[in-house]
Amino acid sequence: MSKKRKFSLRTIYLTIFTLVFAISVGVYVAFDVYVQQKQTESMLVEEARTFAREMDAVWRFIDNSQTAINYTRSGIYEFKGIHCSIVGKSVGAIFSAKSDYSIRYTNFNPRNALDTPDAFETLALESFYSSGDTREYYGFAEYKGKKRFRYLQALSVDESCMMCHGEPAGEIDITGRVKEGWTLGSVGGAISIVIPLEQQNTITQSNMVRNISFFLLLTLFIGGTIFIMSHFFVFRPLKRMQVAFGDMSDGRLSVSLDDSRTAREISHLITDFNTMAADLRGMHESLESQVIDRTIALQEANADLEKLSENLAKEARFKSDLLSMVNHELRTPLTSIIALAQTTKNECGDEDKNEYHAWEEIEKNSNILLEMINNMLDIARSDAGEIATASEPIDLGDVVEAVKSTIVPLAQKYRVSFNTAIASDVPLITGDSEKTKRILENLASNAIKFTPDSGNIRLMIERDAKNGDVCLKVTDDGIGIAVEDQARIFDRFIQVDSTSTRKYNGSGLGLAIVKEHSELQGFEVSVQSTLGEGSTFIVRIPQHLTIADE
Ligand code: ADP
Repeated sequence: MSKKRKFSLRTIYLTIFTLVFAISVGVYVAFDVYVQQKQTESMLVEEARTFAREMDAVWRFIDNSQTAINYTRSGIYEFKGIHCSIVGKSVGAIFSAKSDYSIRYTNFNPRNALDTPDAFETLALESFYSSGDTREYYGFAEYKGKKRFRYLQALSVDESCMMCHGEPAGEIDITGRVKEGWTLGSVGGAISIVIPLEQQNTITQSNMVRNISFFLLLTLFIGGTIFIMSHFFVFRPLKRMQVAFGDMSDGRLSVSLDDSRTAREISHLITDFNTMAADLRGMHESLESQVIDRTIALQEANADLEKLSENLAKEARFKSDLLSMVNHELRTPLTSIIALAQTTKNECGDEDKNEYHAWEEIEKNSNILLEMINNMLDIARSDAGEIATASEPIDLGDVVEAVKSTIVPLAQKYRVSFNTAIASDVPLITGDSEKTKRILENLASNAIKFTPDSGNIRLMIERDAKNGDVCLKVTDDGIGIAVEDQARIFDRFIQVDSTSTRKYNGSGLGLAIVKEHSELQGFEVSVQSTLGEGSTFIVRIPQHLTIADE
């Protein structure tokens, strides 16, 4: 992310102020110069007109005094060289020689070569001759290397001109020159006036200096005043707020700012800031007390947990003690009882039939009791996490042989047939042989229990040709299981009905162990059964747990 360059409020303020000042002074001065130029021009026009009127007055005076000047007392014309045109030009020449001004007469065809028009005068004469309405022509133009104000006024031919310049053209006038043949009222030339500009320039410049100085002082005064006011009422309080924010971010929350002698907006800001600081203080304090409360609660919870953990440890010790107690104190004597019952039963002669049956009953019930104890021990060990699962190659033929050694006598006792069959393509598998044996023993003893006399039990081991899984199947033609009971019989302590419990004995743990032992090894167990026809329990060993033949 690019960091944007930030300018201080003062810099922005000064820049804007300078720009506004420069632009307004520039505009004002340009406008002022324009206005002054216009005023100067109209003043100069008036001045030039005055000169023209004065020259005209001289002209008229001489013209009116001709009788007195150029006639004798007896009324005879005696030209003395003082004629209106000559006097006018002479007065103009004398006036021009004595001042920076210039007044003279000019036309396109002057009798005196000195009166020949220059470029500016030529333009003026052209405009007079081309349009009878144009009587004046003026403007600022160069004259003898300097910028001057120039003014020309058209002269109309009147009676006084006719004697020397009138018709007929070509005639010799009283001064001995050839007449031009002008007609009355036509343009006979122009009076040309040049006015110097030094004075006006000085006035304009001093006006400009005065205006700019005034502007500058005014601006400095206003800018300075605003600057000082904003320093005290805006910048200084803002700086204090900045410091206060810094304090807060350093954890010093007990800040409070004074909002007197500040602008209203800043005062509102300070009030809001003080409120925020107070809120933060409050939140911080309540947070601290909440942290203390939570810490106490956590300490209490920790103490409870420690107690709980102690109790659990005690419970675990108790379970472990109970397990070893049941193992040693119940199983050991029970095994001895079974062995004694078997021996004594076998020693009974034909005449001791009652005694034989009594020992047989003792052996049968002791075996049932032993199976129940074994199942309970398995469940208890599993809950205590004491059951380790081996992962080793197993020959299922060996397992079946081991199962047969315990199940065949049981089948004989219950008078049912028990057959086993292992398909030739069954491979070795990976698993725990002891647990697999317990699975098959439980399934087979259930099958025996829930199959009436002369029933048939089969333990088959096959390979599923479709996917290579190995299936352990225990099939009976016993009482069967209702469809609605088939899912729940794998839960602990579930027996389909109490009547059967009484009739068949059992703890409701056999199938739970089958399921747990299967899952621990990665096997899947399921049941297919029809009530009254028999059941088949299937333990499926997935193909990946089989060991390929070398
Ligand atoms: P139990 O100790 O009662 O045999 P199990 O968990 O082994 O406990 O079996 C749970 C219940 O499932 C049995 O009580 C019985 O109702 C039913 N059951 C198990 N196996 C069979 C079978 N082969 N035929 C009919 N019912 C069975």
